[in-house]
Amino acid sequence: MILGVAIVQAVGLTLVALAAIGIAVVARSLGRGVKGEATLRAALLPVATDGLDKTLDSVRRALQADLILVVLGSAETGRMRVAESTTQGSSELRQVTLPAAYSRLDTEVRRAGGILMTGRGGSPTLDAALVPRGLANGAALPIRGEAGEPIGMLVVGRSRGRMGRDDRHRLSLVAERLGAQLESDRLERSVRDLTTMRNELRHRADHDALTGLPNRTLLTHKVTQALAEVEEQTTIAVLFLDLDDFKVVNDVLGHQAGDELLVSVARRVSAAIRPVDIAARLGGDEFAVLVRCVDANDGERVAKRLVDALEGPFGVAGRDVSVRASVGIAYGLAGRIDIEEILRNADLAMYEAKRAGKGCYARFDRRMLERVRTRHELVVALEKAVERNEIQVHYQPIVGLDSRQLIAVEALARWHRPGHTLTQPEGFIGVADEAGLMPSIGRSVLAIACRQVRDWQRIYPGCARLELTVNLAPTELADPALSHDVAAVLEDNGFDPSLLVLEITESGVMRNPEQARRSMLELRELGVRLALDDFGTGHSSLAHLREFPLDLLKIARPFIEQIVERERDAVFVETIVRLAASLELPVVAEGIESESQADAVAALGCELGQGYLFGRPVGALGMTRYLVADTLPPGLPSVAVAS
Ligand code: C2E
Ligand code: MG
Ligand code: MG
Repeated sequence: MILGVAIVQAVGLTLVALAAIGIAVVARSLGRGVKGEATLRAALLPVATDGLDKTLDSVRRALQADLILVVLGSAETGRMRVAESTTQGSSELRQVTLPAAYSRLDTEVRRAGGILMTGRGGSPTLDAALVPRGLANGAALPIRGEAGEPIGMLVVGRSRGRMGRDDRHRLSLVAERLGAQLESDRLERSVRDLTTMRNELRHRADHDALTGLPNRTLLTHKVTQALAEVEEQTTIAVLFLDLDDFKVVNDVLGHQAGDELLVSVARRVSAAIRPVDIAARLGGDEFAVLVRCVDANDGERVAKRLVDALEGPFGVAGRDVSVRASVGIAYGLAGRIDIEEILRNADLAMYEAKRAGKGCYARFDRRMLERVRTRHELVVALEKAVERNEIQVHYQPIVGLDSRQLIAVEALARWHRPGHTLTQPEGFIGVADEAGLMPSIGRSVLAIACRQVRDWQRIYPGCARLELTVNLAPTELADPALSHDVAAVLEDNGFDPSLLVLEITESGVMRNPEQARRSMLELRELGVRLALDDFGTGHSSLAHLREFPLDLLKIARPFIEQIVERERDAVFVETIVRLAASLELPVVAEGIESESQADAVAALGCELGQGYLFGRPVGALGMTRYLVADTLPPGLPSVAVAS
């Protein structure tokens, strides 16, 4: 019967190499007579590479025993492994909870330091372990490791036939052989484990855990190596790849989906490059490729392959997700450029590729460095602009096209940068938005304009319902704090929310559609209205935009500019006005500079107009003059409008 022990965990240690020579010695000493020895050898030799159970089977038969049991470890540590052979079968070394009788035996064998026997004058502990199994005769002895310390015990039991002196001798030899072999196996295993661990640690230090690609450390090493190896005339290229709008996937579908996408991207990137090139993940959604150039344009060639490889949707979280990537290329000549420089240049070129419209690649050139320096100075100056009150607001009238009456003013930001002429929005809004400064600048513009328009509403007759429109940058719309901040500004200035219109752009909505929709609904809750600015310049259809809560549509200036001359612009405007009417959205025509343009858009159904014809954007003082002129009783001399 197999020992009635609970198997905790199969350890599966195999006594791989009970060396043939060792087994021969064991066999010789165990054999009873020449015939017995020959049988024993035949039985033992082929098992050398099998498990310990088989070896024990052979030894048991040679000893004509009914049980042979090897216990490794000690009862004190509780980590015991047992292998055994009985007349009914055998079992490999396994981790087990040893029955109490055997734990006691183990302790006694260790204490005795030599062989224990059954029977008169023998060990009652051994009897207690064997007799219940019908084994009246037996022995137990320690198995020792290399330094002579006990590493386990060997137990033998016979139902018939006492154990004699010969048996004691043979058992000692078996225990000795087993000890030596188990020790050498253990050592071998620890060396193997150490090597595996070291390799794994080295791999982990050099590779990205998520995608399995080399990481920045390994790439840096490889690029340095490549720069040292390339010959005078040959070059290497480093490509810097960044996914466009990866954040949207992460925000909308969750981080797990984001990770899934990165793994798929890593796969496509690896498949798109040549075997001699190396792809790495630098972190986040940034990847890099080291290209060994044979040809001067190899960098561009690989970059194009990468951009193409990412085309076509990725299956992520059960959905089809499309991402594109922007790639920057920098070339390196041995001895002329170092790793930091080439990576930075590739990064800069990637940034230019993104600005050029995403989903494309750009090659580094020196002018990019100058642009970055200028931009950096701009950001540093902008960071202080709000607290130094350098952001000011100009106002431009929006009028009813039929009545020509002032309906609203649009607040337009201006930057009084010390030492510079007045900076127009195109010179700083985009950069501020990229640098994450727009929420603060935008709030400042909103607060200044609300305070100012509230004053005009109070002071000028006919202006009590004067509306204010204020632009929202893409990052503002993606900012979860937006509606809270807007509510605070309205509250602080006692501004009626129904007189505020916030202008958003398609790119603002598309940056993070889910958050944009949430922000828009929250703003609506406040009683604020929403206008879509510059309509026609983006790519969205009006049908798509219907999914967003909108109250007003502003048709972009380029469609108004030649509305009198160009038939198709007129058709476009007419179509938009009709569509907007079906959605009950009033339309503002932007950029009206002449009476004929005003007549044309009015004839096509636009209700409202904005443009130099009605007034240029002017400072608060200029707008005050405009209001005075606009609200003076007829017949009184009007005040000139500042431009
Ligand atoms: P927008 O919101 O479409 O504002 C209208 C722009 O068209 C203004 O340019 C205005 O001066 C100009 N404009 C109006 N009528 C005419 C016209 O008859 N002819 C011509 N040629 N131009 C006309 P501005 O002030 O340079 O602003 C440009 C853009 O900067 C704005 O376009 C808006 O998108 C953005 N912007 C301005 N202020 C802010 C702000 O405080 N926050 C945000 N997020 N964006 C702002
Ligand atoms: Mg606007
Ligand atoms: Mg506009």
